Amino acid sequence: MYKGVNASEGIGIGVARVAVEPDLSFVPHSPEDTDAEKQRYVNAREKFVKQTQAQIERMKKTVGEGTAAIMQAHIDFAQDDGIIDMVNNSITDGMCAEQAVQNAYDMYYNMFANMDDELFRERSADVADVRNGLLADLLGVELINLSALPENSVVVVHELTPSMTADIDKSDIVGIITETGGRTSHSAIIARQLEIPAVLSVENATQNIKNGDMCVVDGDKGEVHVNPDDKSLEKYRDKAKKLAEEKAALEAYRGKPTMTADGIKIQLVANIGNTNDAANAVEHDAEGIGLFRSEFLFMDSDELPSEDEQFAAYQKVALAMKGKPVIIRTLDVGGDKDIPYLNMQKEDNPFMGFRAVRYCLNNPDQYKVQLRALLRASAFGDVKIMLPLVTALDEVRQAKELIETCKHELDEEGVDYNKDIQVGTMIETPSASLIADLLAKECDFFSIGTNDLIGYTMCADRGNERVAYLYNVYQPSVLRSLKRIISEGNKAGIMVGMCGEVAADPLMVPVLISFGLNEFSVSAGSILRTRKTISQWTKKEADALTEKVMQLETSNEVRAMLQSAVK
Ligand code: PEP
Ligand code: MG
Repeated sequence: MYKGVNASEGIGIGVARVAVEPDLSFVPHSPEDTDAEKQRYVNAREKFVKQTQAQIERMKKTVGEGTAAIMQAHIDFAQDDGIIDMVNNSITDGMCAEQAVQNAYDMYYNMFANMDDELFRERSADVADVRNGLLADLLGVELINLSALPENSVVVVHELTPSMTADIDKSDIVGIITETGGRTSHSAIIARQLEIPAVLSVENATQNIKNGDMCVVDGDKGEVHVNPDDKSLEKYRDKAKKLAEEKAALEAYRGKPTMTADGIKIQLVANIGNTNDAANAVEHDAEGIGLFRSEFLFMDSDELPSEDEQFAAYQKVALAMKGKPVIIRTLDVGGDKDIPYLNMQKEDNPFMGFRAVRYCLNNPDQYKVQLRALLRASAFGDVKIMLPLVTALDEVRQAKELIETCKHELDEEGVDYNKDIQVGTMIETPSASLIADLLAKECDFFSIGTNDLIGYTMCADRGNERVAYLYNVYQPSVLRSLKRIISEGNKAGIMVGMCGEVAADPLMVPVLISFGLNEFSVSAGSILRTRKTISQWTKKEADALTEKVMQLETSNEVRAMLQSAVK
């Protein structure tokens, strides 16, 4: 058994097709005619752009418009003026086109690969993809083509580049195994979109797995089993069948209202990271957007997005949701989310540093750009503003004052916006939890960010394996905190939602119903499953279980009791 990253859920059983990397090596030489060499580069670029455009058209049909847009970045990298100048200058200086292309793209590759932020680091795969595409054209070599594989193939490849994924025919490929890539890499995103089970970052997979091997790809556990015996194969076949049946059965919940077994209405909305995700959320039957992480808009740009750019993005989501609620969180920068062009100072403890709403309130002119864009978008749908990482009441008051200033400006300019726009806050720090009663008086809604709340409550980083045993929602301290936040929000009569990962945890559904949570915000793929789980519980049953749970003393006891209560 080989371990890797569980990048796309489900069980895939099929025959390994090990895709060997093409040989892109060359002997550097000095061209005699530099103009002709530059023309070779122009030709390679044009061919690459044309091929990529065709891939985008294919992907629009297979994985949808939003995901196809990922490939646009390849065209942008191929046509980037800075890179083109660099390559042409190297050719003028006597380099062959292959060497000039390799050097220029390697420089960008290294720059991305060395960034602290995982999202930026993973863009290096796109740069390498463009480099290889151009080199293949220049050398007349064919790249790996995944569009013509036999049925039931498990693709085993060093790196699944976005352009390779574009060629995938979903009906033939039942699993994906790679030697690189994390959960947020484009390949992982596309694999999830295609709903093909995938395990990434399996060491030496292309050497240890041979063409024709029978493989089980367990995308839930991040495990790969090669040539399993008949008994385990049977076990996995049963599991795959059960999962497929479960997924098909969830379709019964599409288009249905979300409510408990005794008819309490719950709002079930989606978390999104970019504007294209909104269409995906609609496809998955979301009743609105509970968290739009606006920082991704800032991370995908080389400079601060202008008011008009931000407005266009927020408006697009508001329009896509057709009047359903859209909660947009203002810039949550810092901690693990670095935005290089903001030039934030290095800190010893960035998770407790100058970040999120603290940074924004200290840069009011910059913050106003975002707040104005959000207000303008509120004329096109039910847009709500949410503040991240609040720890003190003053922060909410200051942000609301800035929003008022922006409103006056827009009034004077005669620009339309929703005068009653709701302003709420994430509750994701122990301090916010402890002053939930005070915050509730100033806020129109709460949304509980359990990802951070658990970390700060338990003093355990979410990404630190060694303290992972502490980082979980079943800790009595975390449960008490959740209970307190929801009860204070309920008392004040404001909507209380949850947009951290806990909202999608089926074990926690009865506890959250019992506490009185009004809104669950989960990733699009978890919508139907969460609707089903909510529908299985009456308030009375949930209360009885929760009363017992709240008397337990350790997280293991809590988890065990919740597990035994699963319906
Ligand atoms: C959270 O902390 O739970 C949350 C939703 O925010 P993020 O994961 O973006 O920090
Ligand atoms: Mg957070």
